[in-house]
Amino acid sequence: MQNPLSALLVERIRRDGPLTVAEYMSTALGDRDHGYYATRDPLGAAGDFITAPEISQIFGELIGLWIADCWDAMGRPRRLKIVELGPGRGTLMADILRTLKVAPAMLPEPWLIETSPALRAVQRQRVEARWADRLEDVPPGPMVLVANEFLDALPIRQFSRATDGWRERLVAATADGARLEWTLGALVSQTEAGLPTALDDAAEGSVAETCPEALALSATVAGRLARDGGAALFIDYGTTTSRAGDSLQAVRGQQYRDTLEAPGETDLTAHVDFAAFANAARDAGAAVHGPVPQSLFLEALGVFVRAQVLKREATPAQARDIDLAVHRLTAPDQMGSLFKALALTDPSMPQPAGFE
Ligand code: SAH
Repeated sequence: MQNPLSALLVERIRRDGPLTVAEYMSTALGDRDHGYYATRDPLGAAGDFITAPEISQIFGELIGLWIADCWDAMGRPRRLKIVELGPGRGTLMADILRTLKVAPAMLPEPWLIETSPALRAVQRQRVEARWADRLEDVPPGPMVLVANEFLDALPIRQFSRATDGWRERLVAATADGARLEWTLGALVSQTEAGLPTALDDAAEGSVAETCPEALALSATVAGRLARDGGAALFIDYGTTTSRAGDSLQAVRGQQYRDTLEAPGETDLTAHVDFAAFANAARDAGAAVHGPVPQSLFLEALGVFVRAQVLKREATPAQARDIDLAVHRLTAPDQMGSLFKALALTDPSMPQPAGFE
């Protein structure tokens, strides 16, 4: 009944005590033997979930054009690192590199930051690139970085508002060791918890989230851009302002599941707090643009025009597929509003395309 990773986690909890949500999430996703990403390719129509680059090539093409535009604004450095965080199947990078042929004066140096051996194997079949586990391992130099549905996979911590203050939500084991269950830790101050002041007046019983890894990454990227030049584009689902709410979710087979039920077999994600992410980048010296809804971003980059062009050469069935894909990417009740685009740039650069 209990899956192997769940049994290992119960053992670990009995030995060391309850886990933070971040510890739980990073083990469930990243464990070398049983982690969700470490062991499988969850993407695509037959997979657990489908992402924008898998929905349509137009997505990657528009981002390729966005990169070419940034490169132009950067003064056209001959070599440009194109860094992607969490590249999944490599589809986005393949579409970007194909599109960058519009800028023959650029020598793109693609870098894929990927921790999953299973997904690295898939990426290797689709793109010629270099791989690293962490952005810190990519040598310095001008870069444009992209990350689609990457931040939502970074481990979050959760805090629950009690009468007397905040307590961390923790993952414990039931007395019989048969299951994982939720518990609360000791009282922590709002500052210790790292919660923004916007949450000062959160109602009793509400849950607040932080993502320390996302903030550290934001600062690292911002520092690099300020030093070496360039831009970074983050697309993910999340909120424009920091607000209370439990956004941890588990998905398998395109269905929501219980978050503690089958660690390693379900995708675990959380909404991105774009306000906190943007503040960390500003503090580290980058200019911040957006976030703007994905619909507006793609529209500004010409998604409808590109669809028209592709449809000219398409059969009626293909034309219908193109329309459906564009609808999925842009309609407010699909990915158009919940998904947002945020750009960080070297502050000497003009506002990048799509953020007017
Ligand atoms: N960007 C892709 C895939 C999104 S799924 C797309 O849009 O289709 C998340 C990706 O991030 C996977 O490739 C996963 O293996 C990778 N990943 C998750 N956590 C990571 C981490 N800490 N470091 C590097 N890659 C990570």
